[in-house]
Amino acid sequence: FWKYVEEGPLDANKATTVALKADPNPNKVNLGEGIYKDDTGKCPVLPCIREAEARLAKANADHEYCPISGIPSFCKSASQFAFGADSSLFKENRIATVQTLSGTGALRIGADFVAKFLPKATPVFISDPTWVNHRALFQTAGCEVRTYKWYDKAKNALDIDGCLKDLRNAPLRSVILLHACAHNPTGIDPTMEQWKKISDACLERNHIVFFDNAYQGFASGDPDKDAAGFRHFINQGHQLIVAQSFAKNMGMYGERVGALNIMTGSEQETTAVDSQLKIIIRANYSSPPLFGARLVDMVLSEPALKKQWFVDVKEMADRIALMRSSLVQNLGKAGSKLDWSHITNQIGMFAFSGLGEKQVMKLRSDFSVYMNKDGRMSIAGINSRNVEYLAKAIHEVTRS
Ligand code: PMP
Repeated sequence: FWKYVEEGPLDANKATTVALKADPNPNKVNLGEGIYKDDTGKCPVLPCIREAEARLAKANADHEYCPISGIPSFCKSASQFAFGADSSLFKENRIATVQTLSGTGALRIGADFVAKFLPKATPVFISDPTWVNHRALFQTAGCEVRTYKWYDKAKNALDIDGCLKDLRNAPLRSVILLHACAHNPTGIDPTMEQWKKISDACLERNHIVFFDNAYQGFASGDPDKDAAGFRHFINQGHQLIVAQSFAKNMGMYGERVGALNIMTGSEQETTAVDSQLKIIIRANYSSPPLFGARLVDMVLSEPALKKQWFVDVKEMADRIALMRSSLVQNLGKAGSKLDWSHITNQIGMFAFSGLGEKQVMKLRSDFSVYMNKDGRMSIAGINSRNVEYLAKAIHEVTRS
């Protein structure tokens, strides 16, 4: 039946992992995967989640079907986490929230909704560059995908003028996908002043702004600070779509815990939007899984667990920040005269190193150091044992 089916390509992130796995060097350095690792190189289960697991085990929970739109209390906790518990949107019942298969699932259900209910010609704008799966998710849903500028290669910084220009040149009522915080792959987030300008440009053009909120809390250690950018948009009158993931900030990667929130103009609209989201979900996978969402719901709603989560997430954010500065320090010690300040200015799991493909490939072949070909490195793969080796290797491939 399938003789004519050709083998398809791996996406950039997965290709890096495959190359790494094939390398027998015991000292290889994995800067490809977007998974948090502690200083021992392990992906930890957060203590708050361990405690929630123990409580759930005692509760003798059933395994009945989850409702199509997810566990109602989880949906409430998740959207309060994103929008702030005191947001008037809750009193006005102006957010339709459904539980999704992590952030990817939220983006895909959101993409399906956009494709179904906006005029066919509506383009979706993603940043250049962006997370490798964004284009595929929206294209597969049937949307036309275009890009707006984000990264200024020469300055290793946000190209704010290019970005604003592209947003203003986009057709009226385009969909604009923005990263809420910890932009992947560049690690470059706008300042509040820049967020204000981006919000203004989108308002001027009546764009529909879709936030991918995959790292709330993980970026700075403070979930309200990480949400400040998109909450500003709400204060300015935008009706946002917000995709949430609990993969990184709760370490729930494989349990697929996420939510999609669509802000509406009225309670009536919320009911209609909610019913349509259910129709999309029903035809995809009927209903989401229970286990991870039960744990995240507990952590978000039980004060002692939430308090522990604040400690846990801060520890992750602080370790990432420490590894950034340690890498820059070690590059200096190794003798590099280049300016590496962008590594410490950037935020979140990833640093856009500025290395070109040739340098990346030399790091692989000569030092068994693996990062994506675009120079994106996962800071989570750096630890106190490999940072000096890594800095020396980077210095070797960047010295002139
Ligand atoms: N958006 C961005 C920007 C991401 O980096 C990721 C994970 N790498 C996701 C969404 C989705 O992750 P998940 O489906 O595991 O929640």
